[in-house]
Amino acid sequence: ALALTGIVKRYGERTVLDGVDLAAQPGEVVALLGPSGSGKSTLLRIIDQLETRDSGTVTVNGAELGIGATGRRHSESRLAAERVDAGVSMVFQNFALFSHLSVAENVAGPLRWVHGWAADAAAARAHELLGRVGLGEYADAAPASLSGGQQQRVAIARAIAARPRLLLLDEPTSALDPELVAEVLRVITSLARDEGLTMVLATHQLRFARQVADTAVFMAGGRVVETGPAERVIGDPSTPQAVTFMTAMN
Ligand code: ATP
Ligand code: MG
Repeated sequence: ALALTGIVKRYGERTVLDGVDLAAQPGEVVALLGPSGSGKSTLLRIIDQLETRDSGTVTVNGAELGIGATGRRHSESRLAAERVDAGVSMVFQNFALFSHLSVAENVAGPLRWVHGWAADAAAARAHELLGRVGLGEYADAAPASLSGGQQQRVAIARAIAARPRLLLLDEPTSALDPELVAEVLRVITSLARDEGLTMVLATHQLRFARQVADTAVFMAGGRVVETGPAERVIGDPSTPQAVTFMTAMN
């Protein structure tokens, strides 16, 4: 479902991604692990076409995204259409809800504007998903009146509403108070299990990553240092850098 080859990203003189290859099969859950600054967010933003790349290819469900045969980056409107066609969706650390819209509208709105759903179908889907993430009673509430964990669950409902095939999550619990983390992790775990969604998620929660991910990719300094079954990479890493990281995080 997802294939990255040779992704290079530079900011000025700094190379922050230095030839990253990564693949995810349909239904596979991939955890991106690594120290702060290793390039996890940049990689996710490149997959989602929020960020340009200096070289390399991003292929989602057979379609190459972002750059055409001419080597020119596609226009923003074309990128948006590609994202929809390929079924790519992203959940951010800071929820990024629309503060002036109700909870239900946060989920239903993009279905209408971006995905062209009819109003009643979008409303029904929002209702269904809010129930699914345990927020059925909050449909008419303003996002600001919800806890961080509830807001993130709304953001997840919004991200999966149009039935994406590839869900990207960038540290979905790192902005949350500790007591709110578990409810969000539970929602993500149930999506991974029940929906067969392909997921790539950056997280510092090793225990969660081990539980939810099939594959773990350990990055450092903009490179993939180690990759393999999550259980093995997290529980028994084989490279010195990964050993140091997993030990420090545990
Ligand atoms: P964290 O675990 O802290 O979220 P990360 O693995 O997500 O870290 P990135 O945010 O991808 O790391 O950053 C990788 C490197 O790229 C860092 O050194 C960061 O400072 C740099 N970087 C990211 N975005 C920009 C930008 N817009 N301009 C310049 N440098 C940037
Ligand atoms: Mg990050």
